[in-house]
Parts: sequence; C-alpha cells; structure tokens
Amino acid sequence: MTPIPELIARKRDGGELTAGEIDELVLGDVPDYQLAAFLMAVYFRGLSSRETFGLTDAMVRSGDQIHLGEALGRRVVDKHSTGGVGDKATLAVGPVVAACGVPFGKMSGRGLGHTGGTLDKLESIPGFRVELTTEEFVAQVKEVGIAVVGQTADLVPADKKLYALRDVTATVDNVSLIAASIMSKKIASGADAIVLDVKVGDGAFMKTVADARVLAEAMLELGRHAGLDVVCELTDMDQPLGRAVGNALEVREAVATLRGEGPHDLTELVLESCAHLLAFSDLGVDHAAGRRKAEGAIADGSAVEAYERWVEAQGGNPDESALPKAPLIREVFAPHDGYVQRLPALPIGLAALHLGAGRRTKDDAVDHAVGIVCRRKRGDSVEEGEPLAEIHAHDEASADAAATAVHDAYELGDERPREVPIVLDTIVADP
Ligand code: URA
Repeated sequence: MTPIPELIARKRDGGELTAGEIDELVLGDVPDYQLAAFLMAVYFRGLSSRETFGLTDAMVRSGDQIHLGEALGRRVVDKHSTGGVGDKATLAVGPVVAACGVPFGKMSGRGLGHTGGTLDKLESIPGFRVELTTEEFVAQVKEVGIAVVGQTADLVPADKKLYALRDVTATVDNVSLIAASIMSKKIASGADAIVLDVKVGDGAFMKTVADARVLAEAMLELGRHAGLDVVCELTDMDQPLGRAVGNALEVREAVATLRGEGPHDLTELVLESCAHLLAFSDLGVDHAAGRRKAEGAIADGSAVEAYERWVEAQGGNPDESALPKAPLIREVFAPHDGYVQRLPALPIGLAALHLGAGRRTKDDAVDHAVGIVCRRKRGDSVEEGEPLAEIHAHDEASADAAATAVHDAYELGDERPREVPIVLDTIVADP
C-alpha cells in the first residue's frame, strides 16, 4: 500500500493514480483531512479517463448494488437530470414509460439551494412514502411497473462522504467528480439504460453548452464502460422548465402534462425523454415509434392511470384536490406592453426558495404549498397591467419579497426574441 500523502502528492503534481490506489483512497479508512486534500488536488489537476473509471467503480463497490433488471427479467430504464428550476419531468416521464409497459425504477434526490428535488415534490402528495426498502422497491417496479424512491443509505456510501466533503471544501465543481458521483449512483441502482438530462443555463450547474457537452461526454464514457445504454440531452435552463416552480404546484403541472394539458416545453422534453427510453427498452421500437407510443399513452388516458396506480402504491392520495394549497396568491403585473425577452431561472428559483419551497441547508423544512407560477414565459407577449406571474405564499411579507424579485426578473422588450428549443442537443455514445 502506498502511503496516502504520496498519493495526494502525485495527484497534486499532475501524475496519475492506478485503480488500486484509488480504491485505497475511496474504500480505505482515510481521514477526512486527507480526502479533502486529495479532492482539492483533483479539482486543480483533473482526473484522466482511466482514473475517472477507477473512481466510479470504487464508489459503486463502496455499498450495495441493486440488480433490478435481473430481478425483473426485463430491461429497466431510468432518467437523471443534473438539476434545475421547475424540473418536474420525472413525475411525467415515469408514468408515461410505465403506461407503455416498460419498467421504470428510479432513485431520486432532494432539492438543495435554488434547484428542486423530485423527492420533495413527491412528498407534497399527502401520504406518499419515498422511503421503501430495497425489497419493496424491486417488488413495486415488478408489480406496478414504476417506483421512485429516496436513495438508500447503503447505496454508494462513498458518494455521500465525498459529496459532503466537496460541499464544504469548494470542490463540487469539477467535471470528473460530478460525472463519477452521478454515474456511480446510476450504475449501483441497477437500470440498463439511462437518459441523462444535462441542464444548461443560468439556473444550472453548467452555464454554457460547451461545458455541458464536456460533462455529458464524461458521463457517456462512464456509462459505456459500465455496459449501460446512455443518451444525453442538453436542455435549456435559461428559464424555468414549464410554468410552475414549487412542489405541489409542480405536481399539478406534471399531472396536467400527463393529461395532455401541460406547457409546451415540458411536454416536448417529456415526450423526447420517453422516446429515448422506449427505444432503449425491450419493446423493440425505435425513437420515432417510441415517441408515438408516448403520445398515445397521454392521449388515451393510460399515462394518468399509471400515475394514479404509482402514487397509490406508495401510500399517496393521487387526487389533485388533496395537494396542499398556499393561503395567499399574489399576482405580479406587467409594467408596460412588450414581449418577455428573458425570464432567468436563477432568480425565480431563489424567489421560490425564499418563499419556503426549497432548503438552504439540508436540514431545512420545506413548505410544499408555496411557489411561483410563471404565466408568461420567454417569447410571450403581454400588455401593461396583465399578470406575468402568480406568487403562492404563506404570508404577506414573503409574498411581497417574492413579488419584487419576480417583477425584477422579467425583462420585457419590443421585439419577440428568437425561439430557443427546449432540447438544445442530443448526444449518443459512439458504438
Ligand atoms: N449531482 C450529483 O449527484 N453529484 C454531483 O456531484 C453533482 C450533482
């Protein structure tokens, strides 16, 4: 065994570590101060492809692995988003895929900062249980066709430890570390094929398409190395996805999308993601046929039925009237006529966070009822005095603060801005 200070020094000086040496760091009993120094060395020097494979593999082996496909005797598909504002796509993608007869099993996370998390959205449904045992998770995917749960403590414990250290040592923002963190959890949770939604824009980790492409390619390489089928969509996060931002509001919008009444950008993202997932499944359809199947599940009501079955299976009440409602709704009005030029995602996400829809630290409680509905989005026209947005708040003071922030976030101008598609690019792994 090489002494840990020697491994740190080699990385610090730009050298390469072997898989065995990475195992020593990730799986050994290494104190936090040495791991923190190692992470900072990686932050500055990066990891080679070989080292990133080694790190991902060691992280996967740090805990339990679920072999969902083997347990079901079917190909299981999954999706992952790098996180954004108003991203409720999983809540619609899962039921559509399940309605098409393809098992969908997913482990999701909670929101932190201005980005929301699928688990918080699901917990706004009264009674919904996100903590299932591994046996319950597998049984539900088998019997109901869909389950979305929190990550169990035994799945990739090395990621929990490394992520907590990265969070407090300013080393989150490194492509190799992000790719290994995301893909280790995907590999350990057992799907055969994954659609990765890499968000790009002011509300996302990756601010430019060029940076998002680097992350996408790193994750594709890790997926290919682990024998998974992966496709990466680079999608627009320069404005919130859909109109609703905030947990129960987003659940309502996801259900509307399953009924065929969702906003255009969310519907398009859901259909494209489903088309990829169905093309990866064992149904034997291509992308175009997968998209038609997904559209059919929305049109014939089977997607909403799958949603209801799923929510009931996890103890929740699928009736929309059971979702919590904020006591106060305040409208934000347009100061003059014009087209919405920009509606940046970050200030809207932060305004929702300050209303109580998110958490600033991981132990904060979330108010599931509050949030923002963006009635106008980029490219929409508006007349002076018409509503731009609705604030759903718990009290007058928080409504006032959010109304000011949302009013300031909207940029109006005379010309209709250029249309930006929700899916900016799609990257598939080389065979
Ligand atoms: N999401 C993760 O799961 N890990 C990261 O490192 C960043 C985003």
